[in-house]
Amino acid sequence: MNFDKKSLRQCIYCHNFCKFSCVPYLATKNQKIIQTQKNYLVYLVNENKVKPNAELGEAVYLCNDCRRCETYCIFEGKNVLPNNRYAKNLIFKNMLAPKKVYDIYNNLLNSGNFLGRETGQNEIRNFDKNKKYDFFIYPGDYVNMLAPGITKSFIEILGKLNKSFVLCDDDEVSDGVLALDLGMEELAGELMEKNFKKITQYKFDTLVVLNPHSYYCFINDYEKYGFKFNFEIIHYIDFLKRYIDNLKIKKTDDYVKYFDPCILSRGLKMNESPRNILGTLCNNQNFDLVKNRDESECCGGNLSLIFPDISRTISEGFLNELKSYDDKTEILITVCPLCLSNLSKAQNSDRFKIYDLIEYVSNNIV
Ligand code: SF4
Ligand code: SF4
Repeated sequence: MNFDKKSLRQCIYCHNFCKFSCVPYLATKNQKIIQTQKNYLVYLVNENKVKPNAELGEAVYLCNDCRRCETYCIFEGKNVLPNNRYAKNLIFKNMLAPKKVYDIYNNLLNSGNFLGRETGQNEIRNFDKNKKYDFFIYPGDYVNMLAPGITKSFIEILGKLNKSFVLCDDDEVSDGVLALDLGMEELAGELMEKNFKKITQYKFDTLVVLNPHSYYCFINDYEKYGFKFNFEIIHYIDFLKRYIDNLKIKKTDDYVKYFDPCILSRGLKMNESPRNILGTLCNNQNFDLVKNRDESECCGGNLSLIFPDISRTISEGFLNELKSYDDKTEILITVCPLCLSNLSKAQNSDRFKIYDLIEYVSNNIV
């Protein structure tokens, strides 16, 4: 795993311009999370000036790759992900990551999913390898483990459209994105290989990915690790863009706001399509929260798997702030199973109903 030296230098000599965009820093006041400090420590370790240590390990893993710092960075086109992954890999190899990270590693290694859940109840082999299907549905680890309602809703929509599909869910192997994001590079490569072999056994036109983190990994990482797919790969947002006009919509008067997930807004730059889809469902058309698109808030992301209390503080902070200035919004929509899970867990009242967009579409078609 290589780091980007130029980007590292920019951060080391920077005056913390992104500091107050870093949600885990705001929640913990741990200065070491922010890019300047973290990259300086990585530099010192690489120069053999200090040894990697558990304190750096904690700081590195408190960064959840939300990429808010990129929005406020003074350098154009900043991508902090490669160096974040590099820093985590450095700490992981030295056995200095928080214990939960090694638990996740063992679960991914032994069961193919981060919870270590027994799989194989609804075997993918029930689908016919000789038949050609319209779609291969890939829910992704976070959907399978945290928000299976997303898959159910998507299948309902496919049924309305009379489309055939292969579903990779219960014995699905993690796509590798969590392993990559947590610095487990070797394991990520192994998971990608298993996944690649599993998916390419089937004949279909298009792979539809339900978890945007998995989608990011399929289109940005697989080829770098030697796995090139020769079929179309889309996220379900692109699927809805194509087919929403073929669905019979019940228009709603709900007051809805859209919570831009970090991976969609800053990672994939998919900002307008979810709003356009909501626009076809809702009579009230203002979906923007105060902080939206590339300035959007973070739900805590994958911190919920390692530091659940901190993740909860972040999600609660967002929900409390929203309640304090907005007495109209009834429904929060997101397009990420992690956001859905983290925000739902942080709700301490029924003030908002929180859905993934695919669930909301499925609830509003006849
Ligand atoms: S990400 Fe940009 S603003 Fe933040 S420390 Fe690095 S160079 Fe500075
Ligand atoms: S990616 Fe997010 S959590 Fe990590 S340093 Fe940047 S703002 Fe902080």
